[in-house]
Amino acid sequence: MSRQDLSSNNDNNNERRYCICQKREDELNEQDDNDDFMIECDGCNGWFHGKCVSLADRIADDIEKYFCAECSKNYGPSIFKPKQNQHRRDYSDGNAEQKPVQSGTKDFIKQLKRKTFLDCEPVIVRAKGDQLTSEHLFANGFTKPILISSRDGLELTLPDRTITLQEINKLIGPEQHVDIIDCEKQVIYKMSFNDYVEYFESYDRNKIYNVLSLEVSNTKYVL
Ligand SMILES: [Zn+2]
Ligand SMILES: [Zn+2]
Repeated sequence: MSRQDLSSNNDNNNERRYCICQKREDELNEQDDNDDFMIECDGCNGWFHGKCVSLADRIADDIEKYFCAECSKNYGPSIFKPKQNQHRRDYSDGNAEQKPVQSGTKDFIKQLKRKTFLDCEPVIVRAKGDQLTSEHLFANGFTKPILISSRDGLELTLPDRTITLQEINKLIGPEQHVDIIDCEKQVIYKMSFNDYVEYFESYDRNKIYNVLSLEVSNTKYVL
């Protein structure tokens, strides 16, 4: 499987047509979304836009052999990289045995769950919302983590505790894109918040995707 960003496509053959959208070489860069990528079919060696074949980059990265819709009829569905280890971000690395456990991997999480941690009480300060004022911080400094036990008086506008992802999705609009990190691979991808919510609520989640940040200014969320 080969994947390439559109900007690095240097073939000068202008007659050749690409993808199911039948673009010419010189039209390939006109796609208004510069996050799009192309993937090569291992059956016909044709190139396809991820978007045109509904394939997200986060999934394409896990594919070892990609077959387009036409070729799938003969070769079957695309083949995913085999999982050869449970402790490396490159889980198809067959020579991983001697390599150390990396954070985010399945083995790392197993080890983390077995670990016991020291009580945090000696290193935190507890305060109520109305005690956390600038005067208090100027007088006492901010040298330890502060755990706010009651949000009353914080003068921060916080959403209702029962707010759901669906409600946030409605407020910020489904076209809002977020940076997510595939925790196991430690690779950052972009996805629409709508896709994120769909993935989060699906039953066959085999990945942990963390949203890195969600920009809500200029959306109904804050208005
Ligand atoms: Zn296309
Ligand atoms: Zn093909």
